[in-house]
Amino acid sequence: MSELLSRRQIVRLSAAERGAGLRGLAAFGQRAGGVKIASDLAVLSADPTGRDPTRPEAYARMTRFVATRLQEQGVLPAGDGKRGSARYLQRFAWDQRYETGRAVSDNVIGIRRGDGTSNEVVIVVAHLDGLSAAEKRWYERDARQPRSMAGYQGTNDNASAVAAALYLSDALGRLERMRKRPLKRDVVFLFPSAEEEGLKGTEAFAKLASHFSGKRIVGVVNFEMVGQGDARQVRFFGGADGIAAGANPLYQRGMEQRTRGAMASLVPGHARDGGEGWFERSDHYVFARGGIPSVMYLGEPGAYHTPQDNLGAIDPKTNRAVARHALRLVAGLADDPRPQPGVGRGLPFTVQTGYQGGVYPAR
Ligand SMILES: [Zn+2]
Repeated sequence: MSELLSRRQIVRLSAAERGAGLRGLAAFGQRAGGVKIASDLAVLSADPTGRDPTRPEAYARMTRFVATRLQEQGVLPAGDGKRGSARYLQRFAWDQRYETGRAVSDNVIGIRRGDGTSNEVVIVVAHLDGLSAAEKRWYERDARQPRSMAGYQGTNDNASAVAAALYLSDALGRLERMRKRPLKRDVVFLFPSAEEEGLKGTEAFAKLASHFSGKRIVGVVNFEMVGQGDARQVRFFGGADGIAAGANPLYQRGMEQRTRGAMASLVPGHARDGGEGWFERSDHYVFARGGIPSVMYLGEPGAYHTPQDNLGAIDPKTNRAVARHALRLVAGLADDPRPQPGVGRGLPFTVQTGYQGGVYPAR
């Protein structure tokens, strides 16, 4: 589609604004052993606004980039926009968290269609947004720990997750071509906006993405900050505590999945939560509250929500290992010949997640 910018155009645009080139990218890619992950991270980090969801013009460059990546992989548009890259977008409005008034942004949504024998869907989630200008001001004025937010990139939180989801999507396409058949179930790729605003993009998807009605969501796999830390110690969440996680079939499936080679190893997230309440703080939680088996991969948060969360702090090998683990989990569930009776639910639904503020249609 003509409105889609090429990767090179977006890199040029963003890098020019930042006044910094992408030196070292080739070396970075080699370290990664996955050039796509490295270049996706570089593009997403080069955005001088840090993917601020309340800056529509800048944010649109990022949504167009993700839509372009999906399109070049053969992932179909699943938003509700009418033309061009907008067909991958779901526009919504929400009550802002760090200042008064509503803002408008877009989720990016793509779909790999299954073989048509199932009405069950698996969803892969990675929030695309970073901090809003208002949230950055809030940190700069924080009485206990004031910090300058200049140069914030948000690479681990959450460009790393977007890159992992795009890697997974690409690999699913290669798997299908190798097998010469699609998977049994649809796999939807959801890149929400306004996660940092209180999971608002995902709430909007659950409440307003009416074109998904009739399908039953049987599993949700979310990535958060998967570009830092030891790939053999990746926290995997299926609930806020052991009882909830133990009752989650997708969590069981992930923990039982055998690892090999350089793939990630998982540790139970709820047992290594450190009092942070991680399970309730990212997008999968909306689906979990809606009664859908939902899991989250969480790497090492590091200095998230500071300017030190940048490209230089990422270990691309960790990023890739997590993506590959999730690839097997998603492909396994999406292609499981057994129906998943009594599991999951359809859209729409509305949930309370503990964050104030409503979501609304924007057109
Ligand atoms: Zn995040």
